[in-house]
Amino acid sequence: MLMKSGTPMSNPEQLDDSEGTPVSVKIRERLKAARHRFHSNDNIADFIEPGELEKLLDEVTVKMQGVLDAMVIDTENDHNTGDTARRVAKMYLKEVFNGRYVKGPSVTEFPNAEHLNELMIVGPITVRSACSHHFCPVIGKIWIGVMPNEHTNVIGLSKYARLAEWIMGRPQIQEEAVVQLADLIQEKTQPDGLAIVMEASHYCMAWRGVKDMDSKMINSVMRGVFLKDPNLRREFLSLIPRKS
Ligand SMILES: [Zn+2]
Repeated sequence: MLMKSGTPMSNPEQLDDSEGTPVSVKIRERLKAARHRFHSNDNIADFIEPGELEKLLDEVTVKMQGVLDAMVIDTENDHNTGDTARRVAKMYLKEVFNGRYVKGPSVTEFPNAEHLNELMIVGPITVRSACSHHFCPVIGKIWIGVMPNEHTNVIGLSKYARLAEWIMGRPQIQEEAVVQLADLIQEKTQPDGLAIVMEASHYCMAWRGVKDMDSKMINSVMRGVFLKDPNLRREFLSLIPRKS
């Protein structure tokens, strides 16, 4: 597309609607009116109207360009960073933090026709997220243990990965991420018990900070029968091949 004068990056007025209100402000006002939390790991898709995500992309691009300018990077002459603001904005909104801006994956639940009541383990599911403290990558794996009962809904195995991807696609804190995922799976499937273990490398510890390349954070959530029955908990933990 040809621009007559300037690009969206250099012309912030193009971000505003006729009243001059940035789209992020409009979305924020809707969230506040509905008293809906909008922390970094909250999904806000219900408050974004069709077409607004593209405007948000333009707005983040302009602000990201401001960050590069403030870092005294000559994006006009440096061919490597000329399009970096746009690229980073796109990466945040459409890729790595997409789980904030889009509605959850549709998951078809089936009744438990076979009356499955044995421990089922799904994993390892690869997790890609970023910490909300530094926006540094958090990369790891999760294992999900489900103890169904006759009323439990059954969902396809790949759906667990889709749900995990949606939850992890937000700036997260590992402890809160596993709880959010547990709540979501609990709500969709209503099992007797649910266990989740997440093991991840936090690049804010490898790239900066203590610069420890090997440390991993492991945490777990246990619900229902996994809380009450130590044998079941042991069985789950013994079956997940964490060392690999
Ligand atoms: Zn961090």
